[in-house]
Amino acid sequence: MLNVVIFGAPGSGKGTQSELIEKKYGLVHLSTGDILRAEIARGTDIGKLADGLISKGQFIPDDLMIDILNGQIDQYPTAKGFIFDGFPRTVPQADALDSMLKRRNIRVSIMLNIDVDTNELVKRLINRGKTSGRSDDNLQTIHQRIQVYETKTLPVIQFYDRQHKHHRIQGTGTMEEVFERICKEIDSVISYSVIW
Ligand code: ATP
Ligand code: MG
Repeated sequence: MLNVVIFGAPGSGKGTQSELIEKKYGLVHLSTGDILRAEIARGTDIGKLADGLISKGQFIPDDLMIDILNGQIDQYPTAKGFIFDGFPRTVPQADALDSMLKRRNIRVSIMLNIDVDTNELVKRLINRGKTSGRSDDNLQTIHQRIQVYETKTLPVIQFYDRQHKHHRIQGTGTMEEVFERICKEIDSVISYSVIW
């Protein structure tokens, strides 16, 4: 199994790169943002809760997010591996991911941290807001999301550093250039690990 955590600030390109990884390596792409937006579209209880939080740039509570992810993994018993996009976003989520994979005798193979500076992030998100229709792609919420990222999500880097799984990826340049950098890291993890 090849299990990739794709990590980065809002607007760093996690979704775009995850789709490219999904195609090339045949992994299942689990995007928590997409999962939550689907719940909102279906008008479920989770969707109603998520709607208010997302538009304010806040996180969904860890316990709920962990339950959702656990349920998602169970839906793909024959997966060759997963791309975790948007999860873990907090240290408790990172801990929970380790436990839930361990129960299934698998683990995170690599964590890719797509690095983009804040000015560029804001520019990209404002631009995306023109067409995305997303309630969180507006200036006020963008600043809130970046602040939440810095306080709650950045410590996740150390979590994977300690496991020697963290790899920084320069997130600027074309989509293809970033993807090439990502493939190099994934391919090296594939070539040196016999057991994932
Ligand atoms: P990107 O632009 O890189 O794809 P993003 O940060 O813009 O990423 P999503 O990953 O789509 O956005 O997430 C949107 C929102 O959904 C988050 O701002 C947050 O409110 C909620 N969310 C997503 N994943 C989690 C999570 N793991 N824990 C808590 N809340 C989450
Ligand atoms: Mg996304």
